[in-house]
Amino acid sequence: PVRVRFCPSPTGNPHVGLVRTALFNWAFARHHQGTMVFRIEDTDAARDSEESYNQLLDSLRWLGLDWDEGPEVGGPHAPYRQSQRMDIYRDVAQKLLAGGYAYHCYCTTEELDARRDAARAAGKPSGYDGHCRELSAEQKAAYEAEGRTAIVRFRMPDEPITFTDLVRGELTFTPDNVPDYGIVRANGAPLYTLVNPVDDALMEITHVLRGEDLLSSTPRQIALYKALIELGVAKETPAFGHLPYVMGEGNKKLSKRDPQASLNIYRERGFLPQGLLNYLSLLGWSFSADQDVFSIADMVAKFDVADVNANPARFDLKKAESINADHIRMLDVKAFTAACEPWLSAPHANWSPEEFDRAAWEAIAPHAQTRLTVLSDITANVDFLFLKEPVDDEASWTKAMKEGSDALLRTAREKLEAADWSSPESLKEAVLAAGEAHGLKLGKAQAPVRVAVTGRTVGLPLFESLEILGKEKTLTRIDAALA
Ligand code: GLU
Repeated sequence: PVRVRFCPSPTGNPHVGLVRTALFNWAFARHHQGTMVFRIEDTDAARDSEESYNQLLDSLRWLGLDWDEGPEVGGPHAPYRQSQRMDIYRDVAQKLLAGGYAYHCYCTTEELDARRDAARAAGKPSGYDGHCRELSAEQKAAYEAEGRTAIVRFRMPDEPITFTDLVRGELTFTPDNVPDYGIVRANGAPLYTLVNPVDDALMEITHVLRGEDLLSSTPRQIALYKALIELGVAKETPAFGHLPYVMGEGNKKLSKRDPQASLNIYRERGFLPQGLLNYLSLLGWSFSADQDVFSIADMVAKFDVADVNANPARFDLKKAESINADHIRMLDVKAFTAACEPWLSAPHANWSPEEFDRAAWEAIAPHAQTRLTVLSDITANVDFLFLKEPVDDEASWTKAMKEGSDALLRTAREKLEAADWSSPESLKEAVLAAGEAHGLKLGKAQAPVRVAVTGRTVGLPLFESLEILGKEKTLTRIDAALA
């Protein structure tokens, strides 16, 4: 059975790369009716925070991603927070030391730096040189007498390590490129290099799907796995697949600190979870040559890690928005109406709850649904219904109110007053007739009416908007524009 894991460290805000990794693991698990394990890698007390942890849970829930084992749901390998598993790591480190798979290293940072610089200068491999690999008991005692402390270092095998990456195919790492590495700090704190594979082993993870930035740790982890298997701690080495980098502006790697990378931004702008997931799934994968918009259920049905592309993926905001717009259109009108509601009240909306008119909103919603890229766009599209006076937008005003606009507005007012307000057609005819009277086509005649009533040059279909706003308010606003 497939068992995958998503194991973020709770630092900073959730970002796009992290969610892409979660999504691919989740889709892989669901596709194979496997198990999704969610583990929190919070062994770095200085960087981890409870706030980040809570944000992460909240974001994943908002997206609709779920997990079968992990925080809050529990599971047979609990606890799923590494900070609560320290005894396990201590025990495994002890076993590795006792078995000769790891050793105490007493080198100081200064010594390591000096030897690394010398090796570089001589054109030799500059990784750890194995200095403490075979210390005698006397040498160790002497170092300790000097007051030195030791880290625990894992002994890498002297032969190359080859594995078949699920995305990249066969990869080989030579020993020069993967020197012995630290697994426990001098103060006894275990490092990512140890705790991540130990937990993968104990949680019986079968497939490790993670970002390309972690590729260099894979040969180390494979060597460590071999030791864990020999010690009876692990059963089998998992398969590894490394997901491509995501590139941002200027073809630079999208960094966690890039504003575009922050997941919250998309949520705040009113991306639908399904729209965002749809887009994120295209970062390194494709549904089919001619279809970019699909449901998450369809993605799960089709997802195969073998189809992930090893080349860097480009983050394309325009495409993300256009996919989201399609998902907005795909909602049934009730769901759309409900999805917009948070943007129609404080803190997003600049009208009071009493000014919000639900009947008017429900009447206009179907006309708005086809116009939105993100849900937050709704506010500007419908604010004319709820504000006492339309927004005062000088640029729109200057653009629409030309010479002759007053005359047109006066005629339009007359015709609208006489119109039949039970259908938008009659209102359209009124404005059309006013335009004709002044030698203007409908488009030109419509512009000053729209700005007088809504405050903006663009918006939802005008005559439906007027009908929903109502005769009295429409005429009052035209009067105000003429005053
Ligand atoms: N906690 C690690 C990170 O957030 C997990 C890496 C991995 O998937 O192995 O980078």
